Amino acid sequence: MAHKYRLQPSDVQLPVLGMHCAHARAVWNVALEQANLYRKHWGPTPNAAMRQRQLAEARKESWLGEGSSSVQQQALRDFDQALKNWWAGTHGRPTWRTKERNNSFRVRDVSVRKINRRWAELLVPKLGMVRFRLSRPLPAEYGMATISMDRAGRWHVSFTAPQPTFERTRTGETVGIDVGVAHTLTLSTGEHLDMPALLTPGEAQRKVRLQRQLARQRKGSERRERTKRAIARLSAKEADRRNDWIEQTTTTLVRTFDRITIEDLQIKNMVRSAAGTVEKPGANVAQKRGLNRSIHRQAWAKWRTRLEQKAAAATEECQVIAVNPRGTSQRCACCGHTEPDNRESQAVFVCRACGHRANADVNAANNLNAAGHAVAGRGGRHGSPDEASTTRAA
Ligand SMILES: [Zn+2]
Repeated sequence: MAHKYRLQPSDVQLPVLGMHCAHARAVWNVALEQANLYRKHWGPTPNAAMRQRQLAEARKESWLGEGSSSVQQQALRDFDQALKNWWAGTHGRPTWRTKERNNSFRVRDVSVRKINRRWAELLVPKLGMVRFRLSRPLPAEYGMATISMDRAGRWHVSFTAPQPTFERTRTGETVGIDVGVAHTLTLSTGEHLDMPALLTPGEAQRKVRLQRQLARQRKGSERRERTKRAIARLSAKEADRRNDWIEQTTTTLVRTFDRITIEDLQIKNMVRSAAGTVEKPGANVAQKRGLNRSIHRQAWAKWRTRLEQKAAAATEECQVIAVNPRGTSQRCACCGHTEPDNRESQAVFVCRACGHRANADVNAANNLNAAGHAVAGRGGRHGSPDEASTTRAA
């Protein structure tokens, strides 16, 4: 849960913000390089404490020394967390940070002062107070502050505030949710939740035009920079609309259902997903079709995180269970008969044994709901890796 505000640094402050971003990036990239080059026979992997010591050494003898140690240490902690998330399979592999895409740094010890109704200021290491506009009330508690520059050159500060309690009452309803091709999400209730087009037709056309223009423009030219900023503004719009959809759908689901079973889509499988596989459903298709145009992997990871956060903060229990989706697309939700031929087409499921006929995604969602039921019945903990890996948010 983040509270985001537009930061208004003065011209004098800009270079220092830029320096912090560059340092955070450098520290991250060095740690990434170290992790990539690392070979097992060297002994135990350098742990977080060792890396912090290495950073302290590096600060003594390099340009990092003139920057803020707290900013740099935080970048290293963020990298360690990213590495853990990757190992846990909830996030993709940490990637190289570039000047084009990654201009941000984090401040752990947040100090904010309200100036008046419209303005507040934040203490930034090596810089002092930087103003930001109070476009919304300040959070009751501050987690960390992330200071970032978007691709349109605008600076923001966002505070990760603890998730407020989520008001809900028990409904006795459960649901399985299938991630699909024709529909972004299909519920076992038969409902579909589709992520809307993120740009209007006009905006989409404009984006294509701008991208063509960009390809023709000379690198480093002022015009090219303008085009880049225009594209970035459209991308920011897309991201805002995607986030709105994620917030709306996760809120509705946590409010409506006592138990939500989702596919435990391993990012690794999603990346490997081949475009052709969605056309012919077969073995493993449930994993492979995870990555499609309607919900790509970052959006899925974020959607799942928000669902779990809201469920965990619910006033009355809402359980989120993630199960291995293997076989869910071929199994009959009525009689349990499982065979690849049960799929008449991508859209239609017809059971060869009992004749049960259903929308293929709804059938899969029903199987997920049943799998969640089985896991919950065993106490909602980890099942065999084959059957289910669970995260229990309650
Ligand atoms: Zn059947």
